[in-house]
Amino acid sequence: MARIKIIFPALALLLSGCSRIWVPEKVENRVGELVTQSVLLQMPVHTDPAWQKYIEDMGRKIAAVSERPGYHYRYYVVESSTVNAFAVPDGSIFITTGLLKFIGQDQLALAGVLAHETGHIARRHGAETLQSQLGYGLLSLIVFGFENSAAKQAGNMTSRIMGLGYGREMELEADICAVRYLARLGYSPDSSLKFLRSILTLEKGQRDITIEKYLRSHPPTTERIQYVENYISRYLPKPQER
Ligand SMILES: [Zn+2]
Repeated sequence: MARIKIIFPALALLLSGCSRIWVPEKVENRVGELVTQSVLLQMPVHTDPAWQKYIEDMGRKIAAVSERPGYHYRYYVVESSTVNAFAVPDGSIFITTGLLKFIGQDQLALAGVLAHETGHIARRHGAETLQSQLGYGLLSLIVFGFENSAAKQAGNMTSRIMGLGYGREMELEADICAVRYLARLGYSPDSSLKFLRSILTLEKGQRDITIEKYLRSHPPTTERIQYVENYISRYLPKPQER
């Protein structure tokens, strides 16, 4: 029964759509742009055009089957030995060279990562984060100085997104989004679990690779895997029903 308690809150969020979010897209975009600028100052763009094209092609296919297909998604492969990936509210998705090295040629694992990050943007988790940080005070801040407010929020958000993720509920929701998007593209239902399972193996074994904290503990990888497995077995339509 404990497992069911874990499942329903995020599932309810997923089914309720984005109507709970009132932060305007303009704000979400501007804060996101500033976060992206800040990330690019810390992590230079990887110069190999082949990886860039591969990530972009796969990312665009996934975005097309998301709840927000028309948004301006952008994809960056960045130099960092840390295994990490994150999504910024202006539509930017970052994948580190450390992550690419870790998953090697495993296309499914990479698709799972991209689908999860796409889920954060499609479900407007950046706007939701801004909303929870500011409450309704955001509107008055915008009135009194949009750029100043946006810069302040971007500063708060950058390290959070890079190091902690969006928080438990939104991370689990992005995992469920990944299952749905990949299923829509014809991948087998458990393909989105490939990356999570490989992270779990990494957590238990090798210690010489740095994994960003949220990938290994926010929420715990075992909880994420159980959550996704349960969703697949309970709610994912059979192939002929999709
Ligand atoms: Zn995430």
